[in-house]
Amino acid sequence: MTDRKLHPKTLALHAGWRADPATGAVAPPIYQTTSYQFQSTEHAGNLFALRELGNIYTRIGNPTVDILEQRLAAMEGGVAALAVASGQAASAFSIQNLARTGDNVVSSTDLYGGTWNLFANTLGDLGIEVRFVDPADPEAFRRATDDRTRAYYAETLPNPKLSVFPIAEVAAIGREYGIPLIMDNTAAPLLCRPFDHGAAIVVYSTTKFIGGHGTSIGGMIIDGGNFDWEAFPERQPLLNTPDRSYHGAVWTQAVKAMGPIAYIIRARVILLRDLGAALSPFNAFQILQGVETLPLRIYEHCRNAQAVADWLITRPEVATVIHPSCQGGVQRERADKYLTGGYGGLVGFELAGGVDAGRRFIDSLKLLYHVANIGDARSLAIHPASTTHSQLSAEERLATGASDGYVRLSIGIEHIDDILADLDQALAA
Ligand code: PLP
Repeated sequence: MTDRKLHPKTLALHAGWRADPATGAVAPPIYQTTSYQFQSTEHAGNLFALRELGNIYTRIGNPTVDILEQRLAAMEGGVAALAVASGQAASAFSIQNLARTGDNVVSSTDLYGGTWNLFANTLGDLGIEVRFVDPADPEAFRRATDDRTRAYYAETLPNPKLSVFPIAEVAAIGREYGIPLIMDNTAAPLLCRPFDHGAAIVVYSTTKFIGGHGTSIGGMIIDGGNFDWEAFPERQPLLNTPDRSYHGAVWTQAVKAMGPIAYIIRARVILLRDLGAALSPFNAFQILQGVETLPLRIYEHCRNAQAVADWLITRPEVATVIHPSCQGGVQRERADKYLTGGYGGLVGFELAGGVDAGRRFIDSLKLLYHVANIGDARSLAIHPASTTHSQLSAEERLATGASDGYVRLSIGIEHIDDILADLDQALAA
């Protein structure tokens, strides 16, 4: 394409694809195929033995999906990526690629409810203990660490609290022990690049802002290529000891010639191979369409959300507004340090009238959709305590920040006057 280092805004349109060599098609084709004709038995053998990278079977890789992987890796400043069927699969794989029964992970308490459930229950049932710590004090990660800690995990801009995570502080602690920081950057694409602050792995629910149009569930794991997995080999046994399920490959050695991609290769050829949460080529196409306009949308989301936060503060019905611009002290410092170009598209608030007022507000909305999603181009609203966070105990809910009266808005890119008019009539209902 060009040797010049391109801006993320340009990479969103160009990375990973130029034109179809067979037809000249400029839009990425949807390679709706399960399998790929091998050139010879030697070629097939080389692909299976990873002597050569290429298409084998769409559960493990697909050319349309590959374009999306390359594009997001480039925009994020990473070296390689693995697309999966959902954000949940991305979170699960990101951990399972390092930890197995008897191991543990230290995670921020400030998480999406589904991730909390995955960590507290499903990973727990698999024998992987997730230790939750309050990220207000980064040192809490160190205190929870022991010899079996394999990763740290957090969300950049976690909803509902919207308190930006201390990425550099916790990444630095982890690097002292050989522990990578995995960041879920779902709510802050382009606004934050966690690799620039020392994170080793980034995960996304591409269902949200990246896809941007509420059409397709998807997830992505991006390898920063910036973590020395061999520095503390006893800390990362899954990458440093022979893998019996892949003819004894030691991942840090097996793919060394291809670059610092041991982590992401293992996720593909072991976890995706065995657990099968592959992204469909059609969804990859839809998500690619979203990526192309992400740089336009994300800042408009930010501008509109800021206007909504400023307006909500003036309303007597509203007890508290949750938005980085309303925070002070270290929280505000972190928001300003880690987010560039805006504070994201999410706004939370608590109504003075509590749960009943919250329900009345949601039921009265006419323009905003009442849905369990964020990051759609349309404005969305939900009451987390009775929906996304309802499967958590009351105590767990409070730890994530989803109090009973909390209403979450994901502000879209409609005209701001129309958004405010709908909020106004719903507050008055
Ligand atoms: N991470 C965050 C921050 C989310 O908000 C969500 C979904 O709401 C997920 C992960 C899970 O993503 P998906 O719904 O694509 O599985």
